[in-house]
Amino acid sequence: MKVRLMMTCREATQLCSDQHERTLTRRERWMLRVHLFLCHKCRKFAAQLAMMRDALQRVANLQADSSPAKLSPERREAMKHELRKLV
Ligand SMILES: [Zn+2]
Repeated sequence: MKVRLMMTCREATQLCSDQHERTLTRRERWMLRVHLFLCHKCRKFAAQLAMMRDALQRVANLQADSSPAKLSPERREAMKHELRKLV
């Protein structure tokens, strides 16, 4: 019987996405942590994903603070700036 000690990059990136939508099991968290410790590319992916989620949250907060009718030019520019960082 073969025991896998490390998940694949595909599994790791899927779990990076999943962790924002559901609670990972203890085993999944541990396996992901080990993978991210050892894999530079997935660590970079996880950081970029977190940055994107952060920017989207900031845009959502800006939208929640402003109705379109009273959107100031400064707030409009701030929203454009946050959206451009995603592209
Ligand atoms: Zn990887």
